[in-house]
Amino acid sequence: MKYNYCGKSGLQLPSISLGLWHNFGHAADYDTAKQIITYAFEQGITHFDLANNYGPPSGAAETNFGKIWKETLGSHRHQLIISSKAGHRAWDGPYGDGSSRKSLMASIDLSLKRTGLEYFDIFYSHRYDSSTTVEETMQALVDIVRSGKALYIGLSKYPPSTARKAMQYLADRDVPCLIIQDKYNMLHRKPEKELLPLCEESGCGFIAFSPLAQGILTDKYLNGIPEHSRAADPDGFLKKEQVTEEWISKVKRLEKIAAQRGQTIAQTALAWILRDERVTSLIIGARDTRQLKDNLKALERDSFSPKELAEIDTIFGE
Ligand code: NDP
Repeated sequence: MKYNYCGKSGLQLPSISLGLWHNFGHAADYDTAKQIITYAFEQGITHFDLANNYGPPSGAAETNFGKIWKETLGSHRHQLIISSKAGHRAWDGPYGDGSSRKSLMASIDLSLKRTGLEYFDIFYSHRYDSSTTVEETMQALVDIVRSGKALYIGLSKYPPSTARKAMQYLADRDVPCLIIQDKYNMLHRKPEKELLPLCEESGCGFIAFSPLAQGILTDKYLNGIPEHSRAADPDGFLKKEQVTEEWISKVKRLEKIAAQRGQTIAQTALAWILRDERVTSLIIGARDTRQLKDNLKALERDSFSPKELAEIDTIFGE
Protein backbone atom coordinates (compact mmCIF):
# COMPACT_ATOMS: atom_id res chain seq x y z
CA MET A 1 0.00 0.00 0.00
CA LYS A 2 1.08 3.56 -0.64
CA TYR A 3 0.25 6.27 1.90
CA ASN A 4 -0.19 9.93 1.04
CA TYR A 5 -0.21 13.01 3.22
CA CYS A 6 -3.63 14.55 3.42
CA GLY A 7 -2.95 18.06 2.11
CA LYS A 8 -0.75 19.97 4.54
CA SER A 9 -1.83 17.78 7.44
CA GLY A 10 0.51 15.27 9.08
CA LEU A 11 -2.10 12.55 8.54
CA GLN A 12 -1.42 9.94 5.87
CA LEU A 13 -4.18 7.98 4.17
CA PRO A 14 -3.79 4.86 2.07
CA SER A 15 -4.07 5.48 -1.70
CA ILE A 16 -7.00 3.07 -1.64
CA SER A 17 -9.61 3.25 1.11
CA LEU A 18 -12.69 1.09 1.58
CA GLY A 19 -16.25 2.41 1.72
CA LEU A 20 -19.21 0.66 3.32
CA TRP A 21 -22.08 2.32 1.46
CA HIS A 22 -23.18 -0.96 -0.17
CA ASN A 23 -22.58 -4.61 0.84
CA PHE A 24 -22.46 -4.04 4.62
CA GLY A 25 -26.12 -3.64 5.52
CA HIS A 26 -28.39 -6.21 7.16
CA ALA A 27 -29.14 -7.95 3.82
CA ALA A 28 -25.42 -8.47 3.14
CA ASP A 29 -23.68 -11.72 4.03
CA TYR A 30 -21.99 -11.04 7.38
CA ASP A 31 -19.10 -13.44 6.85
CA THR A 32 -18.30 -11.93 3.45
CA ALA A 33 -18.40 -8.45 4.96
CA LYS A 34 -16.01 -9.61 7.67
CA GLN A 35 -13.66 -11.16 5.11
CA ILE A 36 -13.59 -7.95 3.06
CA ILE A 37 -12.69 -5.83 6.09
CA THR A 38 -9.99 -8.14 7.42
CA TYR A 39 -8.49 -8.67 3.97
CA ALA A 40 -8.47 -4.91 3.37
CA PHE A 41 -6.63 -4.27 6.62
CA GLU A 42 -4.11 -7.02 5.89
CA GLN A 43 -3.39 -5.29 2.57
CA GLY A 44 -2.68 -1.98 4.28
CA ILE A 45 -6.08 -0.34 3.85
CA THR A 46 -6.17 1.58 7.09
CA HIS A 47 -9.09 3.81 6.18
CA PHE A 48 -12.75 2.76 6.32
CA ASP A 49 -15.47 5.18 5.29
CA LEU A 50 -18.95 5.07 6.86
CA ALA A 51 -22.02 7.29 7.15
CA ASN A 52 -25.06 7.36 9.40
CA ASN A 53 -27.35 6.30 6.51
CA TYR A 54 -25.33 3.40 5.07
CA GLY A 55 -27.17 0.09 5.10
CA PRO A 56 -29.91 -0.70 4.32
CA PRO A 57 -31.45 0.09 6.71
CA SER A 58 -29.76 3.34 7.76
CA GLY A 59 -27.21 2.66 10.47
CA ALA A 60 -26.78 -1.03 9.62
CA ALA A 61 -23.33 -0.61 8.05
CA GLU A 62 -22.11 1.16 11.20
CA THR A 63 -23.59 -1.57 13.40
CA ASN A 64 -22.00 -4.33 11.32
CA PHE A 65 -18.68 -2.51 11.10
CA GLY A 66 -18.66 -2.10 14.89
CA LYS A 67 -19.30 -5.81 15.37
CA ILE A 68 -16.65 -6.85 12.84
CA TRP A 69 -14.17 -4.36 14.24
CA LYS A 70 -14.59 -5.77 17.74
CA GLU A 71 -14.31 -9.38 16.52
CA THR A 72 -11.25 -8.82 14.33
CA LEU A 73 -9.45 -5.48 14.51
CA GLY A 74 -10.39 -4.44 18.04
CA SER A 75 -6.79 -4.16 19.20
CA HIS A 76 -5.79 -2.08 16.15
CA ARG A 77 -7.77 1.11 16.81
CA HIS A 78 -4.55 3.15 16.77
CA GLN A 79 -3.84 1.89 13.22
CA LEU A 80 -7.23 2.74 11.77
CA ILE A 81 -8.76 5.87 10.28
CA ILE A 82 -12.52 5.52 10.54
CA SER A 83 -14.81 8.19 9.16
CA SER A 84 -18.52 8.78 9.39
CA LYS A 85 -20.88 11.45 8.14
CA ALA A 86 -24.22 13.12 8.77
CA GLY A 87 -26.38 15.17 6.44
CA HIS A 88 -28.61 12.81 4.46
CA ARG A 89 -31.89 11.37 5.75
CA ALA A 90 -31.04 8.80 8.44
CA TRP A 91 -34.16 8.67 10.61
CA ASP A 92 -37.72 10.01 10.56
CA GLY A 93 -38.66 13.46 11.77
CA PRO A 94 -37.15 16.92 11.41
CA TYR A 95 -33.71 16.09 12.90
CA GLY A 96 -32.92 12.98 10.86
CA ASP A 97 -31.87 14.94 7.78
CA GLY A 98 -29.91 18.06 6.94
CA SER A 99 -26.97 19.76 8.58
CA SER A 100 -28.32 21.63 11.60
CA ARG A 101 -26.35 21.59 14.83
CA LYS A 102 -29.07 19.35 16.35
CA SER A 103 -28.87 16.80 13.49
CA LEU A 104 -25.08 16.60 13.51
CA MET A 105 -24.78 16.33 17.30
CA ALA A 106 -27.53 13.70 17.57
CA SER A 107 -26.13 11.78 14.64
CA ILE A 108 -22.54 11.52 15.81
CA ASP A 109 -23.70 10.21 19.18
CA LEU A 110 -25.81 7.54 17.46
CA SER A 111 -22.94 6.63 15.10
CA LEU A 112 -20.49 6.28 18.00
CA LYS A 113 -22.96 4.10 19.85
CA ARG A 114 -23.62 1.84 16.84
CA THR A 115 -19.94 1.34 16.06
CA GLY A 116 -18.86 1.14 19.69
CA LEU A 117 -16.05 3.60 18.92
CA GLU A 118 -14.98 6.32 21.33
CA TYR A 119 -14.25 8.75 18.51
CA PHE A 120 -14.21 9.04 14.71
CA ASP A 121 -10.97 9.97 13.04
CA ILE A 122 -12.78 12.04 10.42
CA PHE A 123 -16.33 13.34 10.73
CA TYR A 124 -17.97 14.81 7.63
CA SER A 125 -20.79 17.10 6.83
CA HIS A 126 -22.19 14.68 4.23
CA ARG A 127 -23.72 17.36 2.03
CA TYR A 128 -24.29 21.07 1.82
CA ASP A 129 -27.75 21.80 3.20
CA SER A 130 -29.03 25.12 1.87
CA SER A 131 -31.62 25.33 4.69
CA THR A 132 -28.88 25.65 7.32
CA THR A 133 -26.28 28.40 7.37
CA VAL A 134 -22.73 27.30 6.70
CA GLU A 135 -21.77 28.95 10.00
CA GLU A 136 -24.19 26.76 12.01
CA THR A 137 -22.94 23.56 10.39
CA MET A 138 -19.27 24.49 10.68
CA GLN A 139 -19.59 25.57 14.32
CA ALA A 140 -21.16 22.20 15.12
CA LEU A 141 -18.20 20.47 13.44
CA VAL A 142 -15.72 22.64 15.36
CA ASP A 143 -17.47 21.71 18.62
CA ILE A 144 -17.48 18.03 17.66
CA VAL A 145 -13.69 18.15 17.36
CA ARG A 146 -13.31 20.17 20.56
CA SER A 147 -15.46 17.67 22.45
CA GLY A 148 -13.16 14.82 21.34
CA LYS A 149 -15.80 12.98 19.31
CA ALA A 150 -13.76 13.40 16.12
CA LEU A 151 -10.14 14.18 15.38
CA TYR A 152 -10.59 15.88 12.01
CA ILE A 153 -13.33 17.46 9.91
CA GLY A 154 -14.25 16.76 6.29
CA LEU A 155 -16.74 18.18 3.81
CA SER A 156 -18.57 16.06 1.29
CA LYS A 157 -20.31 17.23 -1.87
CA TYR A 158 -19.99 20.95 -1.12
CA PRO A 159 -20.25 23.33 -4.08
CA PRO A 160 -16.77 24.87 -4.47
CA SER A 161 -17.79 28.41 -3.47
CA THR A 162 -19.52 27.13 -0.31
CA ALA A 163 -16.60 24.83 0.44
CA ARG A 164 -14.29 27.85 0.28
CA LYS A 165 -16.45 29.76 2.77
CA ALA A 166 -16.76 26.74 5.08
CA MET A 167 -13.01 26.10 4.99
CA GLN A 168 -12.32 29.69 5.95
CA TYR A 169 -14.71 29.43 8.90
CA LEU A 170 -12.99 26.27 10.10
CA ALA A 171 -9.48 27.66 9.59
CA ASP A 172 -10.36 30.81 11.56
CA ARG A 173 -11.23 28.56 14.50
CA ASP A 174 -8.06 26.44 14.26
CA VAL A 175 -9.95 23.36 13.17
CA PRO A 176 -8.82 23.25 9.52
CA CYS A 177 -10.77 21.19 7.03
CA LEU A 178 -8.74 18.01 6.62
CA ILE A 179 -10.31 16.71 3.47
CA ILE A 180 -12.91 17.20 0.76
CA GLN A 181 -14.83 14.14 -0.42
CA ASP A 182 -16.46 14.22 -3.82
CA LYS A 183 -17.34 12.01 -6.77
CA TYR A 184 -14.40 11.75 -9.16
CA ASN A 185 -13.86 9.22 -11.91
CA MET A 186 -13.33 9.13 -15.66
CA LEU A 187 -17.04 9.71 -16.25
CA HIS A 188 -17.38 12.51 -13.66
CA ARG A 189 -14.53 14.98 -13.96
CA LYS A 190 -16.18 18.04 -12.43
CA PRO A 191 -13.74 18.30 -9.45
CA GLU A 192 -10.93 19.06 -11.90
CA LYS A 193 -12.44 22.49 -12.54
CA GLU A 194 -12.64 23.99 -9.07
CA LEU A 195 -12.49 21.52 -6.18
CA LEU A 196 -9.08 20.01 -6.86
CA PRO A 197 -7.48 23.45 -7.40
CA LEU A 198 -9.18 24.64 -4.19
CA CYS A 199 -7.77 21.70 -2.24
CA GLU A 200 -4.30 22.34 -3.59
CA GLU A 201 -4.46 26.06 -2.86
CA SER A 202 -5.73 25.58 0.70
CA GLY A 203 -3.61 22.59 1.69
CA CYS A 204 -6.62 20.34 2.07
CA GLY A 205 -6.73 16.66 1.07
CA PHE A 206 -9.11 15.25 -1.54
CA ILE A 207 -10.70 11.80 -1.48
CA ALA A 208 -12.62 10.48 -4.49
CA PHE A 209 -15.79 8.46 -4.04
CA SER A 210 -17.33 6.08 -6.60
CA PRO A 211 -14.01 5.86 -8.48
CA LEU A 212 -15.43 3.07 -10.64
CA ALA A 213 -18.71 4.93 -11.21
CA GLN A 214 -20.41 2.25 -9.07
CA GLY A 215 -19.07 -0.53 -11.30
CA ILE A 216 -19.63 0.98 -14.74
CA LEU A 217 -15.87 1.47 -15.15
CA THR A 218 -15.22 -2.27 -14.97
CA ASP A 219 -15.90 -5.21 -17.28
CA LYS A 220 -19.15 -5.85 -15.39
CA TYR A 221 -21.67 -4.27 -17.77
CA LEU A 222 -19.93 -4.86 -21.12
CA ASN A 223 -22.51 -7.47 -22.09
CA GLY A 224 -25.66 -6.32 -20.31
CA ILE A 225 -26.67 -6.21 -16.65
CA PRO A 226 -25.63 -9.33 -14.75
CA GLU A 227 -27.79 -10.75 -11.97
CA HIS A 228 -25.28 -10.12 -9.18
CA SER A 229 -24.65 -6.46 -9.77
CA ARG A 230 -25.55 -3.17 -8.16
CA ALA A 231 -27.65 -2.17 -11.16
CA ALA A 232 -29.76 -5.35 -10.76
CA ASP A 233 -30.15 -4.89 -6.99
CA PRO A 234 -33.42 -3.16 -5.99
CA ASP A 235 -31.62 -1.71 -2.93
CA GLY A 236 -28.69 -0.50 -5.05
CA PHE A 237 -28.17 3.15 -5.85
CA LEU A 238 -27.17 2.43 -9.45
CA LYS A 239 -30.25 2.31 -11.64
CA LYS A 240 -30.38 0.22 -14.80
CA GLU A 241 -31.09 3.37 -16.83
CA GLN A 242 -27.78 4.83 -15.67
CA VAL A 243 -25.87 2.07 -17.45
CA THR A 244 -26.23 3.79 -20.81
CA GLU A 245 -25.02 2.57 -24.19
CA GLU A 246 -23.02 5.78 -24.54
CA TRP A 247 -21.06 5.05 -21.36
CA ILE A 248 -20.54 1.40 -22.15
CA SER A 249 -19.16 2.28 -25.58
CA LYS A 250 -16.63 4.54 -23.83
CA VAL A 251 -15.72 1.74 -21.42
CA LYS A 252 -15.17 -0.59 -24.39
CA ARG A 253 -12.68 1.89 -25.82
CA LEU A 254 -11.01 2.12 -22.40
CA GLU A 255 -10.74 -1.67 -22.36
CA LYS A 256 -8.24 -1.50 -25.23
CA ILE A 257 -6.00 0.98 -23.38
CA ALA A 258 -6.21 -1.14 -20.21
CA ALA A 259 -5.22 -4.26 -22.15
CA GLN A 260 -2.16 -2.48 -23.59
CA ARG A 261 -1.18 -1.51 -20.04
CA GLY A 262 -1.62 -5.09 -18.87
CA GLN A 263 -4.46 -4.06 -16.56
CA THR A 264 -8.16 -4.68 -16.12
CA ILE A 265 -10.54 -1.81 -16.90
CA ALA A 266 -11.07 -1.28 -13.16
CA GLN A 267 -7.33 -1.12 -12.45
CA THR A 268 -6.78 1.47 -15.18
CA ALA A 269 -9.76 3.54 -14.01
CA LEU A 270 -8.41 3.60 -10.44
CA ALA A 271 -4.80 4.22 -11.46
CA TRP A 272 -5.95 7.16 -13.59
CA ILE A 273 -7.39 8.87 -10.48
CA LEU A 274 -4.28 8.16 -8.45
CA ARG A 275 -2.03 9.74 -11.11
CA ASP A 276 -3.07 13.14 -9.79
CA GLU A 277 -0.97 14.14 -6.78
CA ARG A 278 -3.79 16.32 -5.44
CA VAL A 279 -5.80 13.16 -4.80
CA THR A 280 -4.96 11.80 -1.35
CA SER A 281 -6.99 8.61 -1.63
CA LEU A 282 -9.92 7.02 -3.38
CA ILE A 283 -12.71 5.06 -1.74
CA ILE A 284 -13.71 1.88 -3.46
CA GLY A 285 -16.66 -0.36 -2.77
CA ALA A 286 -16.40 -4.13 -3.05
CA ARG A 287 -18.90 -6.99 -2.88
CA ASP A 288 -16.19 -9.59 -2.18
CA THR A 289 -12.46 -9.97 -1.63
CA ARG A 290 -11.95 -10.93 -5.29
CA GLN A 291 -12.96 -7.44 -6.41
CA LEU A 292 -10.80 -5.88 -3.73
CA LYS A 293 -7.81 -7.96 -4.76
CA ASP A 294 -8.31 -7.02 -8.42
CA ASN A 295 -8.59 -3.33 -7.57
CA LEU A 296 -5.53 -3.23 -5.32
CA LYS A 297 -3.40 -4.25 -8.29
CA ALA A 298 -4.05 -0.75 -9.69
CA LEU A 299 -1.22 0.37 -7.43
CA GLU A 300 1.29 -1.70 -9.40
CA ARG A 301 1.01 0.67 -12.36
CA ASP A 302 -0.35 4.11 -11.57
CA SER A 303 1.54 6.32 -14.02
CA PHE A 304 0.39 7.10 -17.57
CA SER A 305 2.20 8.16 -20.71
CA PRO A 306 1.11 11.48 -22.27
CA LYS A 307 -0.28 9.43 -25.18
CA GLU A 308 -2.45 7.31 -22.86
CA LEU A 309 -3.71 10.41 -21.05
CA ALA A 310 -4.58 12.08 -24.34
CA GLU A 311 -6.46 8.98 -25.50
CA ILE A 312 -8.41 8.87 -22.23
CA ASP A 313 -9.23 12.59 -22.59
CA THR A 314 -10.51 11.93 -26.09
CA ILE A 315 -12.78 9.13 -24.87
CA PHE A 316 -14.06 10.78 -21.70
CA GLY A 317 -13.37 14.50 -22.25
CA GLU A 318 -16.32 16.79 -21.78
P1 NDP B 1 -17.10 2.18 -6.71
O1 NDP B 1 -17.21 3.15 -7.82
O2 NDP B 1 -15.75 1.60 -6.39
O3 NDP B 1 -18.15 1.03 -6.97
C1 NDP B 1 -18.09 -0.16 -6.25
C2 NDP B 1 -18.84 -1.25 -6.99
O4 NDP B 1 -18.22 -1.49 -8.26
C3 NDP B 1 -18.78 -2.59 -6.27
O5 NDP B 1 -19.74 -2.69 -5.26
C4 NDP B 1 -19.00 -3.55 -7.41
O6 NDP B 1 -20.36 -3.54 -7.80
C5 NDP B 1 -18.23 -2.88 -8.54
N1 NDP B 1 -16.83 -3.34 -8.59
C6 NDP B 1 -15.81 -2.99 -7.76
N2 NDP B 1 -14.68 -3.58 -8.14
C7 NDP B 1 -14.97 -4.33 -9.21
C8 NDP B 1 -14.21 -5.18 -10.04
N3 NDP B 1 -12.92 -5.34 -9.82
N4 NDP B 1 -14.82 -5.82 -11.07
C9 NDP B 1 -16.14 -5.63 -11.29
N5 NDP B 1 -16.93 -4.85 -10.52
C10 NDP B 1 -16.34 -4.20 -9.50
O7 NDP B 1 -17.51 2.88 -5.35
P2 NDP B 1 -18.91 3.11 -4.58
O8 NDP B 1 -19.88 3.76 -5.47
O9 NDP B 1 -19.27 1.85 -3.89
O10 NDP B 1 -18.44 4.17 -3.51
C11 NDP B 1 -17.35 3.86 -2.67
C12 NDP B 1 -17.49 4.54 -1.36
O11 NDP B 1 -17.47 5.95 -1.51
C13 NDP B 1 -18.78 4.27 -0.61
O12 NDP B 1 -18.79 3.01 0.04
C14 NDP B 1 -18.79 5.41 0.36
O13 NDP B 1 -17.92 5.13 1.43
C15 NDP B 1 -18.24 6.54 -0.48
N6 NDP B 1 -19.32 7.36 -1.06
C16 NDP B 1 -19.55 8.60 -0.56
C17 NDP B 1 -20.56 9.38 -1.04
C18 NDP B 1 -20.78 10.73 -0.45
O14 NDP B 1 -21.86 11.28 -0.64
N7 NDP B 1 -19.82 11.30 0.25
C19 NDP B 1 -21.47 8.92 -2.10
C20 NDP B 1 -21.11 7.62 -2.62
C21 NDP B 1 -20.08 6.88 -2.11
P3 NDP B 1 -21.26 -4.84 -7.81
O15 NDP B 1 -21.93 -4.83 -6.51
O16 NDP B 1 -22.16 -4.59 -8.96
O17 NDP B 1 -20.38 -6.05 -8.00
